[in-house]
Amino acid sequence: MKKQRICIAGDGLSGLMAALALNKIEGLEVHLISKKNKHSKDKRTTAISATNHAFFNQMIDKLDKKLFWPSKKIDLFYERKDQKMNFLNFDEDSKNLMYVFENDKIKEILNKEIKKKKIKTIQKSINELKDLDGYDMKILCLGRSSKIYQSIVDKRSINKDYKEIAITGYVKHNLENLNAAQYFLKDGPLAILPFSKNNFSFVWSVDKDFSKKEINLVVKSKICEVLKTKKIQITNQQSYPLILNLKRTYYKNDILILGEGLHTVHPVAGQGFNLVIRDINKLQEIIKYYTGLGMSLKSTPALEDFTNNRKSENIITGIGIDLTHNFFKKNKLLDPFKETILKNFSKNNTLKKISKFISNQGLSI
Ligand SMILES: Cc1cc2nc3c(=O)[nH]c(=O)nc-3n(C[C@H](O)[C@H](O)[C@H](O)COP(=O)(O)OP(=O)(O)OC[C@H]3O[C@@H](n4cnc5c(N)ncnc54)[C@H](O)[C@@H]3O)c2cc1C
Repeated sequence: MKKQRICIAGDGLSGLMAALALNKIEGLEVHLISKKNKHSKDKRTTAISATNHAFFNQMIDKLDKKLFWPSKKIDLFYERKDQKMNFLNFDEDSKNLMYVFENDKIKEILNKEIKKKKIKTIQKSINELKDLDGYDMKILCLGRSSKIYQSIVDKRSINKDYKEIAITGYVKHNLENLNAAQYFLKDGPLAILPFSKNNFSFVWSVDKDFSKKEINLVVKSKICEVLKTKKIQITNQQSYPLILNLKRTYYKNDILILGEGLHTVHPVAGQGFNLVIRDINKLQEIIKYYTGLGMSLKSTPALEDFTNNRKSENIITGIGIDLTHNFFKKNKLLDPFKETILKNFSKNNTLKKISKFISNQGLSI
């Protein structure tokens, strides 16, 4: 029987993972379309849950363990007056809670695997949907704001401009046993994500007009203050504008949006790519089911099934992250009660267990 052809447009983390996952399905021929002449390096790290780390292991043969830095503990702090109150610790003795990887290193590994698996890669920029004619299914992984999505989605997406930027960077340090941590500071949440013994990355989300002058010095002094050290060296500092975008329409005919284009969430909870991996896992399962029945993809409700399976979790998670972010933002009315609320939260073991379960496995809706 002739193979059915799927094309994946866009070679960010979502496109690369989707190509490898769908290529595992018998009877499919996967093509990956990547933009010509890209020069910018993605000098960020990504934290993924233990369940999603296991999915990575299924996608890549002999995955080098050293590429993923495991964390058994995540500490959460809230800034009050001059003190940082440690209101919650997630810890596990035996299992790892999450793994952190460097985006550019993992992209390199995924690209190597794509070559090894002989997935055809076509170098071109997609300007209109017509550029993808001839495939049985088209998957757009073109990032958060491609104009091409406009011809697929209706106008009912959930949108918000946070008017914030995420400042990111790598830090060399000589602290002993540094844990992953999130500091809810007055200026915005600061995440510390160790990715090797003496290196961590940070994501500090602040107002977009925050300290335009001498930003490098401000960042360095804040990290030194928080970690109570003076000896750090920052490299690869970058910034990203922050938005919330949760699509309500996922597909049209045989074209699906996937990745940041489907849901862009605030990085405070480190959930963006975790949601994408769960999407890819479900999409693989659905397409495998229909192709296993010998059906032509064009005649199946695969994309409708995918939407029904994933939309609620993606929207609820995106809104949940938005609410969490709002809770920690400066607010004259709520600020006097936050300490008490947080103290009660930390005492409640059931809530702690639920948060841990959701960040590992999603809502499993
Ligand atoms: C500061 C920050 C920190 C984050 N931290 C975490 C975290 O800790 N954990 C987590 O789970 N998630 C995190 N995320 C989210 C995560 O980075 C993304 O979900 C992930 O990178 C997937 O992106 P993507 O591949 O969908 O989009 P992109 O990375 O934007 O990739 C889009 C690709 O499409 C290509 N493209 C675009 N237009 C065209 C075209 N016309 N033709 C051909 N190709 C095209 C681009 O070249 C690019 O390769 C974070 C996000 C930010 C901003």
